[in-house]
Amino acid sequence: MTERSYEKFFRQNRLPHLWCPGCGNGIVMKAIVQAIEKHEGYTQDNTVIVSGIGCSSRASGYMDFDTLHTAHGRAIPFATGIKLARPELNVIVITGDGDCTAIGGNHFIHGCRRNVDLTVIMFNNNIYGMTGGQASPTTPLGKKATTAPYGSVDRTFDSCKLAEAAGATFVARSTAFHVQHLVKTIDEALDNHGFSFIEALVQCPTAYGRRNKMGDPAKMMEWMRDNAVMKTAWDKLPDEKKSEEKFPIGVFYKAEAQPYDAAYHHVIEIAGGAAQ
Ligand code: SF4
Repeated sequence: MTERSYEKFFRQNRLPHLWCPGCGNGIVMKAIVQAIEKHEGYTQDNTVIVSGIGCSSRASGYMDFDTLHTAHGRAIPFATGIKLARPELNVIVITGDGDCTAIGGNHFIHGCRRNVDLTVIMFNNNIYGMTGGQASPTTPLGKKATTAPYGSVDRTFDSCKLAEAAGATFVARSTAFHVQHLVKTIDEALDNHGFSFIEALVQCPTAYGRRNKMGDPAKMMEWMRDNAVMKTAWDKLPDEKKSEEKFPIGVFYKAEAQPYDAAYHHVIEIAGGAAQ
């Protein structure tokens, strides 16, 4: 079998991966390397992948770049440190919904606020998978989890709205079903000099789907196909047609603002000048 060009970005000796059969994490991981491959300026030597803890965060171990598998919720602070110390590097963060919006919630908000030049890809499986199936901030209202056996009573975060409100300069959503769209969206995010946030919905047949009677992995992907609405179409939908299950995908926000490392190094320059 001939090796596909993006396969060089995987540590073949770490495969096969440990994800459950039918899990969507591998689809998003592959989309990331395909976007990197397409993207001029991103090489194995100048790109760093940083992840937190959880099923999705295992991806950093399979990807053949300089990688850092950090503590739960702390991927963004580690990535910020790398970017400030070595601003010439491209830094990508892989995180999950619990890792990013609960345990690491404040790091996420302040990473957006500071516009740190990172590309943060949040694999949203709507639950804590690896740590036991507990409800996460993106578990939909009424859906079951080990900590919500009768259905979650917590309202969910819209993590894209949160990122935009907090100051991120690129905000988008895609899914493991819309692979070409996902690759294109990540590719576009890699162009942004500032905090880029992409929410990638993934099917988790084991911890979420089975508990919520979503059917097999193919059915879960069909659910994404049937309920995702491209942003341009979503914007034209009257409110009464936006049912609870339907959700928009696409690029929601783009802006230009000074990235944090530029501001930080400017201060160092001024301080150095003042000390002389
Ligand atoms: Fe994937 Fe869910 Fe299994 Fe984790 S628990 S590997 S997210 S299917």
